[in-house]
Amino acid sequence: MDPVTHYMAGYFLGRRKGASKEQLMLLTLASTLPDLDAVFILGGVDAFSSFHRGFTHSIIGSLIIIVALTALYMYLTKGKSWTRVGYWVSLGVGSHLVLDMFTLDRSFFQILRFHDLPPTMDHYKGVSLLWPLSDAKFSLVSMNFIGQVMANVLVVVLFILAVAYAIRRIRQNDRPWEIWTDPIKNYIRKKREGEGGGNGEDDE
Ligand SMILES: [Zn+2]
Repeated sequence: MDPVTHYMAGYFLGRRKGASKEQLMLLTLASTLPDLDAVFILGGVDAFSSFHRGFTHSIIGSLIIIVALTALYMYLTKGKSWTRVGYWVSLGVGSHLVLDMFTLDRSFFQILRFHDLPPTMDHYKGVSLLWPLSDAKFSLVSMNFIGQVMANVLVVVLFILAVAYAIRRIRQNDRPWEIWTDPIKNYIRKKREGEGGGNGEDDE
């Protein structure tokens, strides 16, 4: 599943459940974090296809991500409510795993002709839920809930829904990326103001 769909799924859940801006940040971060394993692309397409949707998409890996992100957030914010933070993080990571169970029968690398894997290879079909006990990939297709053609259609439908939802929010003056860009802008602005004040100079 693509990062736009994952991000917008987290954003959608947060908005539906009345999350604050900070909680939305947690949710969207958690909903995209399992794809940290995309870093294996640095080792080439073969490494990527072998490790993607492995450890970070397993039940054990998800729990590690949830505990680590919750602990980091609690440490940085000196927060007190573990359960509240853990709830938003779990919701994000959970949405990622569920969405990744909808998978195309071939990778984007194959579709874009960067790479040709034999059509029988199952690297991309689902998530390694039971890693390290088993390398089996679980998806709605492998579990016989739906057929592959239907899964392909659903992946595209989910992407269109994610983009449509983003457009709807933008029209309501709620830009989904601003929960991340606003704090960065504010930080830079404060830093500049601080520097201006320290020098006794002000350009404005
Ligand atoms: Zn993923």
